[in-house]
Amino acid sequence: MIETAQIIAVGDEVLWGETVNTNAAWMAQFLMKFGIRPAFQCVVPDQEAAIGQALMRAIRSADLTVVIGGLGPTADDRTVDAVSQALRVPVDIHSQVLEHISGRHSRQAGWEASIRRQSRVLRGAEVWLNFRGQAPGQVVATTAPDRWVVLLPGPPSEMKGLAETGMADWLASRTRSRIHRDTYSIFDLGESAVAAYLAPLLQGQHPQTGIYAQPGRVDVRVETPDTYDGRIQRERSRAWVLTHVPVPVYVLGETSREAYLIHWLSDRRMTVAAMESLTGGLLLSTLIAHPGASASVVGGAVAYTDQMKHRFGVARDVLETHGPVSAQCAEAMAEAARHSFDADVGLATTGFAGPDGGTASDPAGTFYVACAGPGGTVSHRRYTPLDRQAVRQMAVQTAMSAVWEVLKLPTLL
Ligand code: ATP
Ligand code: MG
Repeated sequence: MIETAQIIAVGDEVLWGETVNTNAAWMAQFLMKFGIRPAFQCVVPDQEAAIGQALMRAIRSADLTVVIGGLGPTADDRTVDAVSQALRVPVDIHSQVLEHISGRHSRQAGWEASIRRQSRVLRGAEVWLNFRGQAPGQVVATTAPDRWVVLLPGPPSEMKGLAETGMADWLASRTRSRIHRDTYSIFDLGESAVAAYLAPLLQGQHPQTGIYAQPGRVDVRVETPDTYDGRIQRERSRAWVLTHVPVPVYVLGETSREAYLIHWLSDRRMTVAAMESLTGGLLLSTLIAHPGASASVVGGAVAYTDQMKHRFGVARDVLETHGPVSAQCAEAMAEAARHSFDADVGLATTGFAGPDGGTASDPAGTFYVACAGPGGTVSHRRYTPLDRQAVRQMAVQTAMSAVWEVLKLPTLL
């Protein structure tokens, strides 16, 4: 049974950072769906010795080694030779592959050598024909029991196509179980706070729990096997997360809060508008990124100066008494957005994005967001020592949380 894997990306351009190693990220996720845990990843140059050494190390440490790239027709494509040498398995021209490639190859100079080179297969390998390119995928057993090596071409569409067909079929009978992954998203607490609340869960080995943070959002991922025991672990950890984090915990599934909000509003023929200072349009842009936004997003204003805030409906005395970065101003902006743009829901952001600016009580990185809706207006103050863009992204997330509060939306989507 295959339980662990190592991913080796081959290619100078990947090693040198000219090509981002998206293949490895994709492959890791693909393997996880089969209950295979990626144990290690590496990138090696287009050199036989380097590929061979990485391969031998990988075989010792993981059940499955996936080598991606370096299968093309040119002299710098060394993967087949390297694997052949390292495993001491000869290489044969595979007649079915040869025929398959000849039908798809151009007839430019050197085409015969090119198809012969790409038809080379490790002896004894199972071969998967490439319908998006030429070099096939292949899997070969090693002399170590139950240790396998898969070779896939580097062009991402070819790699994915082969993985999802031949490789997926091959894996199906060799993997024990699939892994369930539950993701809990928290928008109103920082990573370290979430980690502190969930410490017992994060420390245990069963289930596997990870925490992933981006500005304004923390995801807790709980992985459990697709077994009876796994289900019990899954239910327990869900109850634990939902009861131990003192702010709303979202289960978003395949959706996002923005997409959900747009559809929730349009189903009710309701609309949203915004007056944005700190986020300068990022909030509306985040909503408009989702298809169907036109049914519920009215528009809004980027009101950066006091004068603009006033022009779009914020009373002068609010600006003068409380200042433009204040809960009162954020609330006045949200209410003004709601009225000026004739929407059911008004949103607002204002703050000090940094790195300069701010006051003693509201240093750079402090912001206020507000949401005004049929049931009233709420605002939130947050502070984060992150950089300018992160502060702005966090403000977008916090504004969404304010919408959830005002509209009393569900968190299990
Ligand atoms: P060929 O040489 O026939 O195109 P190959 O199997 O030799 O196929 P590579 O030479 O490694 O594949 O890569 C071909 C293309 O795929 C390149 O454009 C490269 O940038 C892209 N590619 C290679 N490896 C990766 C990777 N790890 N992630 C994303 N893209 C990659
Ligand atoms: Mg190549």
